[in-house]
Amino acid sequence: MLEPFSLEQLVQEFASLPGIGKKTARRLAYHLLQKPKQDIERFADRLKEVSIKVRPCSKCYLYTDTEICSVCCERVGAKSICVVEKPSDVLPFERSGIYQGLYFVLGGVLSPLDGVGPEKLHLTKLVKRVQEENIEELILALGSSPEAESTMLLIDRLMSDLPVKCTRLARGIPMGSDLEFVDEITMLKAFEGRNML
Ligand SMILES: [Zn+2]
Repeated sequence: MLEPFSLEQLVQEFASLPGIGKKTARRLAYHLLQKPKQDIERFADRLKEVSIKVRPCSKCYLYTDTEICSVCCERVGAKSICVVEKPSDVLPFERSGIYQGLYFVLGGVLSPLDGVGPEKLHLTKLVKRVQEENIEELILALGSSPEAESTMLLIDRLMSDLPVKCTRLARGIPMGSDLEFVDEITMLKAFEGRNML
C-alpha cells in the first residue's frame, strides 16, 4: 500500500486496539485525517493527557487522576470490597447502581501457563487493606474460568484467619474477561444471588 510511513504507523496503532481489524483501523485513520487540523491535535492532546494524568489509585488500583480515586474517597468507611480482575470490570456494578462499597483491582487472575503466579497479583495489598479497614465482606467478581476459580480459592485461603467473609457472584456471569459487558439485569441477579465461597 502506497501510504506515508506516519499514516501507516497510525493505522498500526488503531489495529492494536481490541476489536479493530486492519481494515477498520485504516478507515479510522483516514477519517481522522479528513478532520480539521485542530480536531486532530485535540485528539492527540487527549491521548497525551490520559497517559500523563491517569494512573492507578494507590489504594484500589482503579484509574484516577488524583492520588486516591473518587470511590475510595467518597466511600471511606464502607465495609465491603468487590474484587475484580481489571478496572473496566467495575462498570456493570456502577451502571446497575446495586453496589455502594469499595473496589479492588487484582491486576489479573492466576495463570501459571502465562507466567502469572500469586506474586504478580496485588494480593499482599488486598490482605493489608482488609485488615486495616476492618472489611467484613469480600465480593469476588472474577468470572468463572478455571483460572478465576483457583484465584478465588487462593484469596479465600489468604483470608481464612481474618474476620471477613468471601462471597462470589451467582453463576450465570460470563467468563472474567467479559465482565465489563454484562448488562444491568444480569448483574443485579448475580449480585443479589451471591453466595459464600
Ligand atoms: Zn481507589
